[in-house]
Amino acid sequence: MENVIECPFCGRELDKDKVIKRKYVCYECGYYFRVRTNNRIKMVADRGSFEQWFEDLVESNPLSFEGYEEKLEATREKTGLTEAVTVGKCRIYGEEAVIGVCDSRFLMGSMGHVVGERITAAVERATELRLPVFIFCCSGGARMQEGIISLMQMAKTTAAIKRHSDAGLFYCTILTDPTTGGVTASFATVGDVIMAEPGALIGFAGPRVIKQTIGQDLPEGFQRAEFQVEKGFADGIVKREDLRKTIYYLIVANRPKEGVFRVRRQSEEDKRFMYTEILKELTWKSRSLTAWEKVKAVRQAIRPSAKDYMDYIFDFFVEAKGDRAYGDDQAIMGGIAMLNGQPITVIADMKGNTIEECQKRNFGMPLPEGYRKALRLMKQAEKFGRPIVSFVNTAGAYCGIEAEERGQGEAIARNLLEMSALKVPVLCIVIGEGGSGGALATAVGNEVWMMENATYSILSPEGFASILWKDASAAPKASEVMNITSQDLKRLGVVEKIIPEFGGANPNTVEAIGEYMRDEIVKFLDACEGKDWESFAEDRYNRFRKY
Ligand SMILES: [Zn+2]
Repeated sequence: MENVIECPFCGRELDKDKVIKRKYVCYECGYYFRVRTNNRIKMVADRGSFEQWFEDLVESNPLSFEGYEEKLEATREKTGLTEAVTVGKCRIYGEEAVIGVCDSRFLMGSMGHVVGERITAAVERATELRLPVFIFCCSGGARMQEGIISLMQMAKTTAAIKRHSDAGLFYCTILTDPTTGGVTASFATVGDVIMAEPGALIGFAGPRVIKQTIGQDLPEGFQRAEFQVEKGFADGIVKREDLRKTIYYLIVANRPKEGVFRVRRQSEEDKRFMYTEILKELTWKSRSLTAWEKVKAVRQAIRPSAKDYMDYIFDFFVEAKGDRAYGDDQAIMGGIAMLNGQPITVIADMKGNTIEECQKRNFGMPLPEGYRKALRLMKQAEKFGRPIVSFVNTAGAYCGIEAEERGQGEAIARNLLEMSALKVPVLCIVIGEGGSGGALATAVGNEVWMMENATYSILSPEGFASILWKDASAAPKASEVMNITSQDLKRLGVVEKIIPEFGGANPNTVEAIGEYMRDEIVKFLDACEGKDWESFAEDRYNRFRKY
């Protein structure tokens, strides 16, 4: 019976070898088993590349807590670990990175002073070596036997991460089951990118404590990884089969900024390696529509979305979700795309192609959390010297109670303020409707382009007619005098370039338009080559100063 294990979720008896082969995922129900440190390292690091650091840092008993030393000794004996976190350096598809792995078998992965010290020392050494850091988090929270000294680890670890970040380096956490307590209020949730494993419990207070405190049942899925993505606290869910590839992609896409802007170009060998070996199966990649999806897309008599063009512009795209404060607004999509080896941060208004998708995306009318997500991703792009491409297509910012409660005006203003000063190239393309401040909030670019039949205006022709002439039915007349077409705006100097639609944007022309855009974006980036970072902000200031 040695080779049979029981799934804690579905209760079925499983063949252990088969479970191991599937990276500790139940092949019956998809449950994610908790993973031991050495298995986790095997899962992500190139074979034999892991070099452990600070193993000699072991516990004292800071509060002389009775029985603590005996308990530690027994835990060490049982787990073969010296503490609840293991840190060190490894390679991932040849790329060097510092990793930390927490293990819930060691006193529930609680953060005593050695856990804090190992993480802090590893982050400090990563800063010296200029390496990215990836931490696999799982923790029950503070270590009670260490009291206030345990609490201090929250400030200590976070402070080291701040210095690593200020040095322009990339920090990423992968939240695994369970990540709770002080760890979620410190090193686990301050990543440039935060990923979570499916179904993982993630929260500051544990569900049992919350339930007791408020005396109510908690909703289904409360505090699970999927819930946290929806609420804007993590960029996305990562499946174990994609974990190593995703980490590799993040290392490549988040290299430290250098002296001046240089377009990154991939050698043929790199390209083969990265595109075929690694990203071939990455679930988020572009051009992944099934035949049936394509059929459905072609049948829809509507303009293509940003995502439709992106399939022809970029080699692939990884979405990043959430504003880290309230939610993930799907009226604005964001993430990192790759174009010939050059990582690019993409922001895109999305309206949706089907009724369900339109509802999910609020018909492309963003809420404050959408603008805040866009800003978060644009600031991240600035940190790592990534150019930004923003696709604008919205009737306007969402008009409603919740938008006002969460500060719609402030969110738009904040974007204008911060976008004006971004020290990276910013290109904005109006692909459909450019409606008022809600569009401008993602359209402060070094250049602004417009598709041939797109519109961009202060408000809708209906609104214009009713305000100016108290007669909404005069909208056709209003549209004539408002100067809202690409040709008008080019003449007025509001846009630099018109993207031809080859007879009108529809599913038959989307490929030609997308490829045209790709060529033009490549030219735009080439023209930025060798400019210093400051000049992009300066040029943008002057561009808007002239109006
Ligand atoms: Zn199962």
